[in-house]
Amino acid sequence: MLSIQLTRSVNSGPLYKQIYQALKQQILEGILAEHDQLPSKRELADYLHVSMNSVISAYQQLIAEGYVYTKERRGYFVEALDAFIAVPEEEIFPEELIEKRSPAYLFSFSHMNADASLFPFRAWQHCEQQALRHYAASLDNLEHPQGQWLLREEIARTIGRTRGVRCRPEQIVLGASTQWLFDLLAMICDKHALFAVEHPGYQRIYQQLHASGRPVLPITVDYKGMSPQELEESGASIAVVTPSHQMPTGLIMPVSRRIQLLNWSYKEEGRYIVEDDYDAEFKYEGDPIPALHSLDDLKRVIYVGTFSKSLLPGLRLSYMVLPPALLAVYKHHASHLMQTSSSLIQLALYVFIKSGEYQKHIKRMSKHYKTIRAELIEALHDKFGSSISITGEKAGLHFLMEINTPRPTGAILEKAKEHRLELYGMDRFWLKETTPAEGRPVIIIGFARLRSQDIASAVSLLHHCCFDKA
Ligand SMILES: *Cc1c(COP(=O)(O)O)cnc(C)c1O
Repeated sequence: MLSIQLTRSVNSGPLYKQIYQALKQQILEGILAEHDQLPSKRELADYLHVSMNSVISAYQQLIAEGYVYTKERRGYFVEALDAFIAVPEEEIFPEELIEKRSPAYLFSFSHMNADASLFPFRAWQHCEQQALRHYAASLDNLEHPQGQWLLREEIARTIGRTRGVRCRPEQIVLGASTQWLFDLLAMICDKHALFAVEHPGYQRIYQQLHASGRPVLPITVDYKGMSPQELEESGASIAVVTPSHQMPTGLIMPVSRRIQLLNWSYKEEGRYIVEDDYDAEFKYEGDPIPALHSLDDLKRVIYVGTFSKSLLPGLRLSYMVLPPALLAVYKHHASHLMQTSSSLIQLALYVFIKSGEYQKHIKRMSKHYKTIRAELIEALHDKFGSSISITGEKAGLHFLMEINTPRPTGAILEKAKEHRLELYGMDRFWLKETTPAEGRPVIIIGFARLRSQDIASAVSLLHHCCFDKA
């Protein structure tokens, strides 16, 4: 008779499962040979002192998975299975793939943050409830590949008013990230079109375009923005820029350069400018500067926006506005790709914008970020004296800081990590193979998640990382 060990304790699972497991194991290991007859249900139940039902359930599961077959009136038999041609020597999971929970940072100067502690979660919850109350029925099927119409309408209205971007909801494609939207763009732009990105620039988009399989050309950013001469000579036909607040230099592109870039795009058919307007909601001196898109009458600008900085990165919601010519290509070649962001989040956001909560939040956050930024800059000047210079602070949620210290950037970042201070250097934004010879260290200071009461300690710690021996 078979040898099956059953354990009758609370934790060892139901008896039928144990019988099933034991038989399966013996079949896989060849202990039970193919076409061997298994005991009848009654025999096995009697032998193991279990109920018939336990044996029936076990046999049924083995039959369903194909380990066992039945013959009419003859009973149960072991299926013929090929042996595996390879067996692992021992179960090992590669060490480098084991996720390590990094210790939480004490303070963060990351440029990718927003402040969740000031997010109006109560209002958001209310919007989500409203969305569920009114639109739950629409969650039972796949949504439009471009995203919820109601939200697209609301976004078109909002960016028309706040960014001067005139567009129809039909032109908007929503997505769960800016990176994904660039993937889509790479798919619908001409196969031979080369992309140009800013250098220094946002490495995530550079990597993403690179992964799409075509060369991506980093073009120097001078004191006004992407260099039009270098762009012209590069042979690129799609230029990706951040005019509102260049990532990472913080430069606001003057209108002279905006016109030069637009003229570059008008020179040849098929040229486009992608405007990544990631943090344009926040501008601290004077009025916001309208988007580059607002100057473009020939429809050569693809506008890209995100709610990661204005609301929360965790919402995962971004959008792009396609010019009609590209929209046609998208509809033809890419609209089989389903929407990547959650309908529920989209509908909640629709209610959030429509009810005025969004504008209220932006207004509040602008004020808050303005205060934090001023306090932080003052604290930095107090602590570092004349050894720093700050640039790119007129808009957005980060600025650059050059430090007069003998310590190289790498050592500063290493020290910051040791002290659980989240910090990034310029090095991550140099996209060309040949990065400039390092002068003074330049680090990027994001302040979105810094709290007023932490500024003094965070600045002290930063100073320590830049200068102190221990
Ligand atoms: C934060 C940021 C984005 C937004 O990325 P998401 O994928 O939408 O979160 C885009 N571009 C730049 C330069 C950014 O800093």
